[in-house]
Amino acid sequence: MTAPDPSAARATEIAAQVQSGAWTAREVVSAHLERVRRTQDATNAFTQILDTNALDAAAALDARREAGGPDSLQDLPLAGVPFAVKANIGVAGVVTDAASAILNGYIPPRDATVVARLKAAGAILIAITNQDEFGMGGSSERSAYGPVRNPWDHGRVAGGSSGGSAAAVAAGAVPLALGTDTGGSVRQPSAFCGVVGFKPTYGTLSRSGVVPFASSLDQVGIVTRHASDTAVALDVMAGRDPSDATTVSMPAVGRITSDAADLEGLRVGVVRDLVGEGTSAAVQNAARTLTRRLTDAGAQVSEIDLPTGRAGVACYYLISSAEASSNLARYDGMILGRRVGDNNLGETQVMTQTRSAGFGPEVRRRLLMGTFALAAGHQDEWYGQALRVRRKLANEIDDAFAGVDVLMTPTAPSDAYELGELRSDPLEMYLGDVDTCLANLAGIGAISIPAGLGEHGMPVGMQFMAPAGRDEVLLRTAAALSGDTPVATADV
Ligand code: GLN
Repeated sequence: MTAPDPSAARATEIAAQVQSGAWTAREVVSAHLERVRRTQDATNAFTQILDTNALDAAAALDARREAGGPDSLQDLPLAGVPFAVKANIGVAGVVTDAASAILNGYIPPRDATVVARLKAAGAILIAITNQDEFGMGGSSERSAYGPVRNPWDHGRVAGGSSGGSAAAVAAGAVPLALGTDTGGSVRQPSAFCGVVGFKPTYGTLSRSGVVPFASSLDQVGIVTRHASDTAVALDVMAGRDPSDATTVSMPAVGRITSDAADLEGLRVGVVRDLVGEGTSAAVQNAARTLTRRLTDAGAQVSEIDLPTGRAGVACYYLISSAEASSNLARYDGMILGRRVGDNNLGETQVMTQTRSAGFGPEVRRRLLMGTFALAAGHQDEWYGQALRVRRKLANEIDDAFAGVDVLMTPTAPSDAYELGELRSDPLEMYLGDVDTCLANLAGIGAISIPAGLGEHGMPVGMQFMAPAGRDEVLLRTAAALSGDTPVATADV
């Protein structure tokens, strides 16, 4: 076997080669670190590169195989697989700052459960990825580390908020990265970068050790270049976690292969309103092409109406901002958060200065919005109303699933736009979440798959959603549709 080519290997292939001894973990990790450095120069996808930790972990794995013999890594489904995690996912001994100045230098005492479980399966953490501060944004331009550039076109955004994770996988720097998805932050950047982005059913993956944004919507998500890799990572990380009471145990997905037979008889409901007006020509084209492919493969494609669908974005921004204003209240410079202002100014002044200096403008806007939505006298009008809309929308989605197995929409109304293009227009950026926020509001699983290239040669993503707990269908559908076409890795 020749030396590992990081830009081509799937996670499952790497694990098999490391288990068999064809590749050492050390050479796999070194090759990926080299690619990480090149990607960093081109895209700013990373906030930290963990060379020493990664090479130490690789050496330990190689030593274990040497001492234990040929079968000694068989129980590690991700043996030697390099991975990266978003900067809001805690790693013991490593700065975890959610790309915010207020968490500058914060080092958690332990790994987030998802990180611990990947490591226990043999995976090796090699880098931390850049993001929008606290996950608030859709372009990864609002980071204390500067914007992430799309590996397909360095003048365009990578999407967000998990833009670094998507760019890293698209550039072939890692085969696997974790992000978080509150309203689309794993799926939308995956669409913009041409990779597979998956948000499991709410409660599937533990958020313990993850910096919270909006707790009724937050879910950890997985970015790969192939849905079969997503399935392995999911099985490794899923399962009850006593330190996150929202976790439930889900049946293992098992091995997923790209099998066209999985599409035969699959009932697909295309959400009519989301593939028409307000969607770019390139995205509409991709939807038509995918519909044709599904029909040719024997799927039954129909059109579905979600009358409350378009209200999802407003509802999402009210609820997520309200929850954020409560979750982020802890960063006041007293116990948590880097303190700004002289102590003898008094508590109120120090808190004000700390929060003004520590939070970027978008985070401040969300906190103001959220505080207003929860204010006495307005609560029922805003937050209460948003909760009622959320329930109505979830019921409509439930009803739709009485007749179809999966719902299909674009992942976003357009492909990746230019850096700076939407910076001064927050509302326009919020509207970009029209497709993805539905799954978070309903608590269901959703996946974005690469669906060809649009204008300017940029990737377009299409999204599938399934009823809660039916994530396996999403992974099978994704593997069947995007499995045979190797996802082009961008030239970094
Ligand atoms: N773009 C959305 C927002 O800005 C989604 C963010 C996310 O999923 N973390 O809130």
